Amino acid sequence: MESTPLTTSVPPTALPDDLYFNFPATVTSDDSAAHTITPSIFRELPEPDVHILASGGLRIPAHSGILASISPVLEHVIDRPRKKRTAEKVISILGVPSDAVVSFVRFLYSSRCSAEHLEKHGIHLLALSHVYMVPQLKAMCTKDLAQRLTIESVVDVLQLARLCNAPDLYLKCMKFVADHFKFVEKTEGWKFIQDHDPWLELDILQFIDETESRKQRNRRIRKERKLYLELHEAMECLEHICSEGCTIVGPSNVDPKKEREPCSHYSTCHGLQLLIKHFATCKKRTNSVGCGRCKRMWQLLKLHSSICDHSECCKVPLCRKFKQRSSTSPDENNKRKDDAQWKMLVRKVVSAKAISSLSLTNKKLSDLEEDRMIGHRGIGSFRLQSVRRYRS
Ligand SMILES: [Zn+2]
Ligand SMILES: [Zn+2]
Ligand SMILES: [Zn+2]
Repeated sequence: MESTPLTTSVPPTALPDDLYFNFPATVTSDDSAAHTITPSIFRELPEPDVHILASGGLRIPAHSGILASISPVLEHVIDRPRKKRTAEKVISILGVPSDAVVSFVRFLYSSRCSAEHLEKHGIHLLALSHVYMVPQLKAMCTKDLAQRLTIESVVDVLQLARLCNAPDLYLKCMKFVADHFKFVEKTEGWKFIQDHDPWLELDILQFIDETESRKQRNRRIRKERKLYLELHEAMECLEHICSEGCTIVGPSNVDPKKEREPCSHYSTCHGLQLLIKHFATCKKRTNSVGCGRCKRMWQLLKLHSSICDHSECCKVPLCRKFKQRSSTSPDENNKRKDDAQWKMLVRKVVSAKAISSLSLTNKKLSDLEEDRMIGHRGIGSFRLQSVRRYRS
């Protein structure tokens, strides 16, 4: 079989020596020159039997068997009957720079694509890999493009990802746009979308909107979870103060010890002890105006009673009283709603600890640090205010 000579009049770019990488074929510009990288394999390969025509008239000699084995689309093109039996097989890959086609052919032969080529021709290689159904190259391109997103390129890549049905890359682009929208909306790419693709613009704006509300929802859930956890801690402290006693307050048969080491939840515990001291002596506790701090203490005692499963021997004041009251509470309609909300609060405080210990295993150290900081501020707004007011 005779090799087909390169018939390009003036090739815009010379074919690189390593075009076929470690799966070499002949790259002949005249009969005497035949480049091979690994001669042992080369000797087993037949002469090129097909040419790929790239933009600018570049003709890349190739092997139909290899092209067909990697790309079902190229296989179909190769198997298509030609007008003349003797006509030379030429596959046109136009519309992308010829360098990108060379990189594409190189991948078909070697299953490899260097970082440099991916960076230079990533967008075109993604398009080629999609059109010619080369999933390995497509996966490489989407991964690489996702890592190289910039404010300027993201809209183009997003459009391409949609055209090439690359959902991972599309999602990454969407997230990138959402995170940098105030810069992206100033780019030419964004203006182009606004003028030419209102549906995509709408998709992106909706995605940004959903991302923002999801973030807000997550923030709210985290805030709530922290509050329940703090309330749970306060419940533990209350029992510990009423049964063992801590630094300032303790049961009547146990002397509070000033020199005693702070307990494990000391910050919460200390605030709670101040609140108990206030509760015990506040003159406004029972008058008609009422006292905000005493009301909070009252709620904590009620919360404890709702959670407590050993009321009979419990040392926390009013535990049994609250239990009795709740079991004989009237069934009025207006009370039902309050009761349901209260039960929900109790359930969440009880489960707060379990949820936190489960999620704790997955938490990053930084989050732990953040939690610790919040822990030091005490049991949320509840104790923060009370301690500040007590101290002032
Ligand atoms: Zn304590
Ligand atoms: Zn008070
Ligand atoms: Zn109790």
